[in-house]
Amino acid sequence: MSSGKSNLECFERAQRSLVGGVNSPVRAFGAVGGTPRFFERARGCHLYDVEGNRYVDHVMSWGPMILGHGHPEVLEAVHRAVDAALTFGACSPLEADLAEMIKAKFPSMDLIRFTSSGTEAVMGAVRLARGFTRRDLIVKFAGCYHGHGDSLLVSAGSGALTFGTPSSPGVTRACGAQTLVLPYNDISAAREAFRRFGGQIAGVLVEPWGGNMGLVPPVEGFLEGLREVTLEDGALLIFDEVITGFRVPQGGVQGLLGIRPDITCLGKVIGGGMPVGAFGGRRDVMEHLSPLGPVYQAGTLSGNPVAMACGIATLRCLTDRAYVELEEKGAYLEGAILEAARSAGIPGSVTRLGSALGLFLGPVPRNLEEVKATRVDLYPRLFHLMLDQGVYLPPSAFETFFVSLAHGTEDLEQTGRAFAEAFRALKGMM
Ligand SMILES: *Cc1c(COP(=O)(O)O)cnc(C)c1O
Repeated sequence: MSSGKSNLECFERAQRSLVGGVNSPVRAFGAVGGTPRFFERARGCHLYDVEGNRYVDHVMSWGPMILGHGHPEVLEAVHRAVDAALTFGACSPLEADLAEMIKAKFPSMDLIRFTSSGTEAVMGAVRLARGFTRRDLIVKFAGCYHGHGDSLLVSAGSGALTFGTPSSPGVTRACGAQTLVLPYNDISAAREAFRRFGGQIAGVLVEPWGGNMGLVPPVEGFLEGLREVTLEDGALLIFDEVITGFRVPQGGVQGLLGIRPDITCLGKVIGGGMPVGAFGGRRDVMEHLSPLGPVYQAGTLSGNPVAMACGIATLRCLTDRAYVELEEKGAYLEGAILEAARSAGIPGSVTRLGSALGLFLGPVPRNLEEVKATRVDLYPRLFHLMLDQGVYLPPSAFETFFVSLAHGTEDLEQTGRAFAEAFRALKGMM
């Protein structure tokens, strides 16, 4: 089955024609060192690289593959869709099918617009919030990732309440000057921002569980407080549930906690492995979007029929029973990691939202600063110790990892054993 090429040969070749050999930077293994694996095939919870090595996958394409790779019902739906048409660039009933399935779990989303990525969904949501409120400022939180839109590639300036500084060359200072970056889980900082900039903030954009600095839960009162201050001020509350969406049987964190944001962004799971994003929310807000309203947003392949069919089939398989199973598998892995850490004498902690897990070598953090204060320096070693035992974790300490419906008992046991072994080896380095 394997092509006879090595990962290294593939990487060297890729670097001759692709920037850094990749099409998304984290894939280059820069944060962990070593040679990226080049994959040929994936089935269930397993990835197969060009050298014929098999790995238990805990990246799951960064979240979308919640059913596992190559789920038969999803493949069948996609095959049928491909045979019907690759794209119309026009309307198909599949778009309303998927929209209705999303609305059933996200009652805050009266109207929806599909995009081809999470990045586009957030960019659309931010433009819409600004257009609707006729205000310019956006509040975001350090450590939250919202895709690579200019106004969000901004990190905290020095000082508690300063405007952001571009976190990438090419993002203009003007963009940074319209984004306030606050510490996650700090409701008093958010209240202070509204005292200082009341009437100027278009929206507060937040990952309701921080899924891009490991997996950081919201402290009690944080999201509720954001809902309160935004309502008082007339700013919109935007939940970026691109990672958290469809992770739990209640739909997202908003369903879990009973908080109703004005706009929600989705991606990842709703495409089931195809490029899909979505934003949606309050009817009066969404009616500001073209063609109903003046705020422009569009996409040649938005609502693509193959992608819609893949998303529909994926959500259809996410029954209550499936969520029970995902919860059990997630809990099993959480327990196995904690036990491995305990028996090795390593200060490990695990956060978990259903089938999404965060691992920290240190106490559970509440914000990016506290994440950085854990032993992230040991992660590259941990990553390779796991990889050598056939377990594929995210190639960065700041990412969430996943279990899927396809992870069986033996697979999770393999991961648990690998953690036990890896933690024993790490212990000597602490
Ligand atoms: C992945 C992610 C995005 C960006 O989605 P892409 O499809 O990669 O553009 C946005 N927000 C959050 C919270 C994400 O995890």
